[in-house]
Amino acid sequence: MRENLQTKTIDEVKINKLLCCPPPDPVQIREILSRSRELHGLESADVATLAAVKDPALLEEMFETARSVKERIYGKRLVLFAPLYISNLCGNECLYCGFRAGNKFLARKKLSLQEIADEVSILTSKGHKRILLVAGENDSSTGLQYIIDAIDTIYKTRSQKGEIRRVNVNIAPLSVEQFRELKKAKIGTYQVFQETYHRQTYKTVHISGKKADYDWRFNAPARAMQAGIDDVGIGPLFGLYDWRFELLALMQHIRLLEQEFGVGPHTISVPRLEPASGSDLAADPPYRVSDTDFMKIVAILRLAVPYTGIIMSTRENAEMRNATLALGVSQISAGSRTNPGGYNTCKTETADPQFSLGDHRELDEVIADISKIGYIPSFCTGCYRLGRTGNDFMDLAKPGDIRMHCDPNAVSTFQEYLEDFASEETRTIGIKAINDACEAMAPSAGERALKMAALVREGKRDVYC
Ligand code: SAM
Ligand code: SF4
Repeated sequence: MRENLQTKTIDEVKINKLLCCPPPDPVQIREILSRSRELHGLESADVATLAAVKDPALLEEMFETARSVKERIYGKRLVLFAPLYISNLCGNECLYCGFRAGNKFLARKKLSLQEIADEVSILTSKGHKRILLVAGENDSSTGLQYIIDAIDTIYKTRSQKGEIRRVNVNIAPLSVEQFRELKKAKIGTYQVFQETYHRQTYKTVHISGKKADYDWRFNAPARAMQAGIDDVGIGPLFGLYDWRFELLALMQHIRLLEQEFGVGPHTISVPRLEPASGSDLAADPPYRVSDTDFMKIVAILRLAVPYTGIIMSTRENAEMRNATLALGVSQISAGSRTNPGGYNTCKTETADPQFSLGDHRELDEVIADISKIGYIPSFCTGCYRLGRTGNDFMDLAKPGDIRMHCDPNAVSTFQEYLEDFASEETRTIGIKAINDACEAMAPSAGERALKMAALVREGKRDVYC
């Protein structure tokens, strides 16, 4: 059965037909929005209809519905992580990326295991608990064994007040056998972006290297799941082709995974193309996505796949990040650097970043800002460590039972941050945010959260349920 998936792909004809649908009628849109409130998700045809909404009043109704779905499923918690770029060596020629092989002016670097440990010590000393490991694709010097050694180093590096408890990875596609090896290294999520689902555009922007093979990349999430990696993350790189097409193709990709494995991706990322050194394409994206359309993308995804996490990186500025948090984003990176060795500002030798960041705030500042607007920053890694992944996670998420775990875990890990790492100002803001959030939770979850926070204040660490 699984072999079949290797031959499955996106049905472009079907997508183009859906995109030609007549301008949406307000009655039909309100019917879709009302259905989405039942939290069962939406079909591709619904997504196409919502994507065509332009009327500002209807758009606001759509945003309001997305905000309410987000609030019902995720409450106030917001997961935080930091990317860790370990190498910018790359053999591919992706025209939008600063790391592409042909960018001869880029300062290149592969971090040694000691340098990785140094970076991790800096991140843990700031309070991070979750890392997204990122690397270019270079089999000869940064192949799978290097990645596995890097993950091992990250987990083993412990500073006085903390350690990394979950390592997600964003690396080039592997074979099923190699994914099995990666799983043994205890990764959380395996993340891989298709960049563009539009085959012709894919061919035009990936001109050489292994990544030029569309199907090898498209089937990577399936191979990872086949190898037993339950949590996979997917997404397009918005700006390469029409976002409406990408959204519908993403829906098809999700449904193919659901059909095959009974569960879709754990997360969807929504990167927008950002300027990158040595890339004319990134400087002037062929299908630039406006801020309003970007908010539409997040809102539609929230309604279409309500239980799938949505990740936003520091590519976006603080203002856009705050607006989309309410609409559906459930995880954000904070205090990020996209150059290998970028957290260690004391060293002399530097490597160049992958792309420009839109949000330059440090972790503590991000935490203060999001807590001020009512969010509870979460460093929780409980599900992954208790084996609540893939289908097991969705079985708890869909009836809403997961909030009995996620909400208290967010509070206890935030309390840990406030005790060990926060500035005075952030601590004051954070304590108020915790009290407000616990009051707003279902009584049993609020009680559990307060008890767990008290344990942390008494000196216990890594408290989760
Ligand atoms: N090399 C691996 C790969 O391509 O899958 C993993 C690392 S690559 C640095 C991670 C992601 O960065 C890519 O999948 C792509 O979506 C994103 N990216 C590349 N260039 C970008 C740019 N100019 N702006 C925003 N994101 C970019
Ligand atoms: Fe290499 Fe990934 Fe950048 Fe492509 S996107 S050039 S594969 S690092």
